Amino acid sequence: MRYASLSLDLDNQWSYMKTRGDDGWQSHPSYLDIAVPRILEFLARRRLTITFFIIGQDAALAKNRDALRAIAAAGHEIGNHSFRHEPWLHLYSEAELDRELHEAEDAIESAMGVRTRGFRGPGFSVTASTLEVLLRRGYQYDATVFPNLLNPLARAYLFAGSKLSHEEKRQRSALFGTWKDAARPVRPFKWQLQGGELLEIPVTTMPWLKLPLHLSYLVYLGKFSRPAARTYFRLALRACRMSGTQPSILLHPLDFLGREDCPALDFFPGMDLQRARKLALVDEFFDMLLARWEPITMAEHARRAAAGRQELRRLTPVFPA
Ligand SMILES: [Zn+2]
Repeated sequence: MRYASLSLDLDNQWSYMKTRGDDGWQSHPSYLDIAVPRILEFLARRRLTITFFIIGQDAALAKNRDALRAIAAAGHEIGNHSFRHEPWLHLYSEAELDRELHEAEDAIESAMGVRTRGFRGPGFSVTASTLEVLLRRGYQYDATVFPNLLNPLARAYLFAGSKLSHEEKRQRSALFGTWKDAARPVRPFKWQLQGGELLEIPVTTMPWLKLPLHLSYLVYLGKFSRPAARTYFRLALRACRMSGTQPSILLHPLDFLGREDCPALDFFPGMDLQRARKLALVDEFFDMLLARWEPITMAEHARRAAAGRQELRRLTPVFPA
């Protein structure tokens, strides 16, 4: 049976502003009250249960409680997306990483009543130390690896439009990953760590070509040409089928928000689209995916990958210091 896991990184308005170095993120401006009900309604209409990766800082703020509780109440899987959403985890010590994960777990548990067992690092930031800490903390899987050839372009795009200082750019030098990340596998594999093994479910990119196929990219393509975006997604899914890849498809709140919902983020690719136009595109991509692939959560993807007949590849993390 073909299946595809669906996960949504619940990045918030402030986390985008923070990554880009925009003032005002410190008060944690939030669009969760608009985005979450819309996303939940969309998923309920299609009877989908997916995985939400939650930022601990959002869970710690009373203003977000209702929105977050609604996600848990709808029965979705809840994962950890770090506490501070800083895409420079490679600068953290192991003790700092442990605290970062622990604080997020506690905040998420107290807001949503669930202890997280899956993790995705902010800005696809993956380090050997983070993996060791995840293993020690009893995580079922990591889902941070993003073998995308276009990562450095995404970073250059963000830097070009920002007011980041030289120092801040250095801090963000691994943001979205490097060329080397594109060499990593698209299919699930196991990290061989000092403390044992940890399952990795990468964000799927197009097999062989390593080009992104998550919703934000498709929507961005669709802005220029709807038929081209459809063809691209169809080819990507065909490549998954031919290579025996069960895709893990990444979603973001911005896939469900239009220009009129959050003018402050108009710098983000695709955020110049009207809400109705964007939602129509998203609907179309979901129709294509769900026509042939059984939708599952990340935890279920991890379970099936671990229990599968196919032996998983084993990789030792080698990262620049
Ligand atoms: Zn994020």
